[in-house]
This record gives sequence, C-alpha cells and structure tokens, in this order.
Amino acid sequence: MAKQPVTLADAQKEIGPLRQQLIQWGKEYYEQDQPTVEDYVYDRQYQRLVQLETEFPELITPDSPTQRVGGQTDTQLAKVTHEIPMLSMGDVFSVEELQDFNVRQQDGLPEIDQLAYDLELKIDGLSLSLVYENGRLVQASTRGNGVIGEDVTANAMTIKDIPHQLSEPLSVEFRGECYMPKASFVKLNEAREANGQPVFANPRNAAAGSLRQLDPQVTAQRELATFMYYVPEYEKLGVTTQDEALKRMAELGFQVNPHHRTVTSTAELVQYINEYTAQRDDLAYGIDGIVEKVNDLATQTALGNTVKVPRWEIAYKFPPEEQSTVVREIEWTVGRTGNVTPTAVMDPVQLAGTTVSRASLHNPDYLRQKDIRLGDTVLLHKAGDIIPEISRVILAKRPADSQPYQIPTECPVCGSRLVHLDGEVALRCVNPMCPAQIKEGLAHFASRNAMNIDGLGPKIIEQLWNKKYVSDFADLYRLTADQLLTLDKFGEKSTAKLLTAIDNSRHNSVERLLFGLGIRHVGAKVARLIAEHFGSLPAVMQASADEISAVATIGPTIGDSVATYFANAQVQQLIQELQAVGVNMDYTASPAVDTTSEWNGQRVVLTGKLAMFTRNEAKEWLEAHGATVTGSVSKKTDVLIAGEKAGSKLQKAQQLGIPIWNEQQFDQAMKEEQ
Ligand code: NAD
Repeated sequence: MAKQPVTLADAQKEIGPLRQQLIQWGKEYYEQDQPTVEDYVYDRQYQRLVQLETEFPELITPDSPTQRVGGQTDTQLAKVTHEIPMLSMGDVFSVEELQDFNVRQQDGLPEIDQLAYDLELKIDGLSLSLVYENGRLVQASTRGNGVIGEDVTANAMTIKDIPHQLSEPLSVEFRGECYMPKASFVKLNEAREANGQPVFANPRNAAAGSLRQLDPQVTAQRELATFMYYVPEYEKLGVTTQDEALKRMAELGFQVNPHHRTVTSTAELVQYINEYTAQRDDLAYGIDGIVEKVNDLATQTALGNTVKVPRWEIAYKFPPEEQSTVVREIEWTVGRTGNVTPTAVMDPVQLAGTTVSRASLHNPDYLRQKDIRLGDTVLLHKAGDIIPEISRVILAKRPADSQPYQIPTECPVCGSRLVHLDGEVALRCVNPMCPAQIKEGLAHFASRNAMNIDGLGPKIIEQLWNKKYVSDFADLYRLTADQLLTLDKFGEKSTAKLLTAIDNSRHNSVERLLFGLGIRHVGAKVARLIAEHFGSLPAVMQASADEISAVATIGPTIGDSVATYFANAQVQQLIQELQAVGVNMDYTASPAVDTTSEWNGQRVVLTGKLAMFTRNEAKEWLEAHGATVTGSVSKKTDVLIAGEKAGSKLQKAQQLGIPIWNEQQFDQAMKEEQ
C-alpha cells in the first residue's frame, strides 16, 4: 500500500482519481457482471481509500464507495424496495485484523463476558432475498444498491433448491446467497467458449449474469443453487441465535451450508480459518473467505449497522494466490464446432493445491489484449479459485528480442482458412470435415441424446482414432470384433456389448442422427422439430434454408446453418455412407416419449399427497418425458417428488442425500418442458 500522505493537499490530489477508479470497477463488477480486475486489486485500492478518508474525514463525499452499498439496478428487470436494507459487509485481510476487530467489539459490550460467534463460509455468489407469504414464495430479489433491488422472482422459481412452498404457513423474508457450483461454472464456460461467446470471469459473475437477466429459461439451464443464512425479522421464527436460525431454515426446506460452527475463543476461530483455508479447493462451490457473526440475535440488533455494513458481522477474506512462470508455447486446438482456441503452455508451478502448466487464452482478442508472447514471464492465478488464468505479463522480465505473437490464419489440423463468424470473438475452422472436429464430434455422436451408443466414451474413441479404425461416423458401423479386442481392457464381453450398442443405434429415429451430426445451432430439441416436420433426412437435405426456417420456433440462423451444412459435398458423401451401413434415415419416434426432455432417463419416486394433480397424472407425464417412476427410494433414485404428509420415503431420501422436490417445483419444471 502507498505511503500515508503528509498533507491534506496530497490526499486531495490522490483521492479523486482513486474514488473514480473504484466507482468504475464497481460498475463493471456489480452492474455488468464483468470485472476487469481481480478482487484483491479492488480491495487494496478500497483499503487505501478508507485509510485516506479516516485520516481526512472532510474529504468523504456521499458518492464515495465507502458510503454506499455497491451495485445498482441497470437491467430491465422490475425494481423492488427493500424495507429492511440489504447491506454489504466489512472485511479484514488477516487474522490479526480480525482479532483487533473482535477486541474492539467486545470492549463495546462490557455487560457480556464472552461473545459467542457463528462462523460461516463466505459463499462467492450474490445476495438473494426471498419473501414468503403464508408459506408461499411471492418475491425474489437481488440486493441492488441495498434499498432498491431487482425483481428476479420468475428466475428464482427455476432454481431447484428454492422451495416454492414452505412446510409452515409463514410470512417471512429470508436472505442468502445464490451461487453457481464450480462444476457447472466450468461446463458453462466450456460451452460458451465452443459457441464463440465471451466466458464469465468467475462463478460469482456467472451466477449474477444468470440471475439478473430477463429469460427464466436461461436461468433454468444454468444450474444455480442457494445457501440461505439470514432472517432479518428473526422473532417471527421464534429463534434467538444465528445457529438456531440456520437450523430452523434447514427444517423449513432451505439449503443451509453445513459447515457453520459456533465458537467462543480465538483458538477455535483460528482453527476454523485454518481448516477451511486448507479445504476450500475441495468444496463444490467457491468461497472467498469466512464470515464471523455475533451469534446472539438480540446482541446483533443492539450493535446495529453503519450506513453500509452491519456491526455484528465481518468477513475475513482469503489472501490471493499467485505464481509467476514462463510461457513456452501457445497451442491451438480445434473443438467439435470448429472453434479454434489458444492455450498457453508454461513451466509447471504449484498453485492453490495443484500443479499448473496450461491456461486457456480463450480467443485471439484475449491473447492480443494481454499481449502474451513466447518467452514472457507471466503472473498466474486461479479464476474463481478453479481455473488457472494468466493475470498479466511481467513486462520488466520480457526478453529484449521478444516479438508480438502471430495469430494463425489456417486451421492447425486441416489447413483450411480460419474465419471470424459474425459477432463472434472466436476463430473458427468452418470445414465440417476437418478431422479434429470429427474426432471431437464422435463422442457427441455417441452421446445419450444423440445416437445413444452406450459404452462409446471419449477414451475408447481416442484409441479407435489413434489406431485409425475410425475416421468418420460411418466407420463406427464398420468396426469388427477383432478390432475392438485390441483396445485396452476389452474382452469378449465388452466387445459384444459395444457392437450390440452400435448395431442398435442403426434403428434410432432420425432426429438422433440429425442432432448427432453436430450441426451448429442444432440442439436435441431443434433436431426433433426438424425431423418431425420433414419426416426423413433426405427430405431435410432437399429443403431450402427458408423452408427449414419456417418450421415452428426455428428461425433463419438455424435454417441457414442446416442448409449450409448439407450443401457441402463431403457431408452428402458421409450421409450416403451412413445410409449404406444401414443407419435409419426416417423419423420413427413415438410422439408419446420425448427423449430430448431433461427428465429422459431419470429415476423418479412420487410420495405423499399431491394436490395439483393425481399420482397417475404425474406418473404419465414423467413417463411420457422418458423418466422411470419407481415405488421405492434407493441410491439410484434421481429425485423424490414429495407431496404433503410424506413419510418414510422422504426420510430415506433425506438420509441418502437425494434431491427432494415439492409439488410446486415439479409443476414449474413441467411448465418449462412445454
Ligand atoms: P462482499 O461480497 O465482500 O460481502 C458481502 C456479501 O457477502 C453479502 O452481501 C452476501 O451476499 C455475501 N455472503 C456470502 N456468504 C455469506 C454468509 N455466510 N453470510 C453473510 N453474507 C454472505 O461485499 P460486496 O459489497 O458485495 O462486495 C465487495 C467486494 O466485491 C469487494 O471486497 C471486492 O472483492 C468485490 N468487488 C470487486 C470488484 C472488481 O472489479 N473485481 C469491484 C467491486 C467489488
């Protein structure tokens, strides 16, 4: 941190630009969900502002980030007023600072011998308020600027762990964190990268971007989750401590983070911090620190708030982890959809629990902006604690003879000219017969919603490819037992099983093939619509872009993509070969079962008294969407749908940790499938 200025004039000169910079970073972070600097960079500058304002209080302005809860409401979502403001939280960056904070707090409460604290993980998401009336969820909103938030009710209704109906008819507001699990974040960014869209910087931004937008369908696909941790009007729940409040929320059906702990001594506090500092990389969700809360709720009320933060809680923020290393190579890989992505290959270093030697550079723009060159020494961190990312080049260590990196103009695999499609940051190889795309595409071709060839995963495909047994989709149907027997760990039984699975796939209704070909913009549902409309693949191939676009809900982007794909002579050749090896080209799906549904293949148990539909109606609907409805709960059950007065099945599902849905959640999911 910079030195304390000696004069008011010095402070005045420094404070204006510093404040403007923080306001700008705050806008990017809170409003656009696209931070341009790491949190610790922001935090460092923020601390400097606090230091200057403490020294010279006359320089505090009402628009200073220290005087306001960060975040505005700039989306088109409706606005909500928080009767009880949703505040930010003070933070400390070392155990010593935390101890100082506690000593000051304890000194201010001479009537209490020893404060008890509830310690919780600081979930890296965004705050969410859920208002219930008579036990029904009536409003969900974001924090916004603390007083005015955004109405995200329709979006929150799609988040699977938010109860639509509580087990008691309470009229209470609950607050907590909405977050995106690490695995979902990685999956989402991979898909965005493949589609040429910009990636999210971290799970917090991904969660915020998924909740603060207008389309509930988008939220539904993003796999958001929640942990609830606060009831502003705690008296309504009849609880007196934070610990009790958390237990009560869990009983009511909310997800409550299990890792909270009540402590009364510094030794226990340090123990908790150490435990979770060590474990944070193993958690399924990101945390950026520890929250310490005064456990007694009446004492919380007595301590009250400043304009910006409660006085009864404080965040201990984890220190950032960074390492420097040298970039040796930039590798370009071709994905299934032709997306060509650069990856920096570096000297291996230890970073946040793993050895790191590769970091995605996402797209050419990213590479150019960071001006990363071969031989550069770079600073490496883990974005959102998960994905290795280059923070910046250390220019002082750049070799004297360094040259800007030349972005390739040809596909590294098939040599076709690379292009930028309209509006995309990604560079693409648009040759649908590019071997790299086909190899990546084979796993997609075999996947469950495509040709559904059980047992043909990426590892086996890799071997088949390397042994040159397959070079396109049609080759899969020419595989022999002798060839399969040469694969790792392949005996008679696994060979026969795979050959049967391949053979069975010949008879699939054609929408599976249409999806499996991996045509840009053609997902499983679109493939089904097109196949159903045209009846066969040859008919689709003869259709013009306009004719395809005219099919319900499809539109010109998909129409053009399909027509362009089938206009390619090599693609036509491939389809002929698939026909020759006996792959069905007709639409034969029974309209009764929707194999593209999210429910397809799920094992569901129904229990308790359902009020909105009969048990039979629910069963019929589930079966029509490809689910299997079974009578008892086991480890294999994917979801339990529980009505009122659910008994032993509910208990068993709770013990086994199986997702439990109430009737309203199921009803919502049914609507989303329409
Ligand atoms: P914050 O995110 O640091 O902390 C407050 C929030 O923590 C609460 O609103 C709540 O949503 C959340 N939280 C998570 N787990 C919780 C738990 N168990 N109990 C209670 N609350 C919990 O504060 P803020 O005001 O939202 O944001 C400030 C922080 O945002 C800064 O410290 C900085 O790291 C980051 N920021 C970064 C940039 C950037 O450009 N990178 C810009 C602005 C802010």
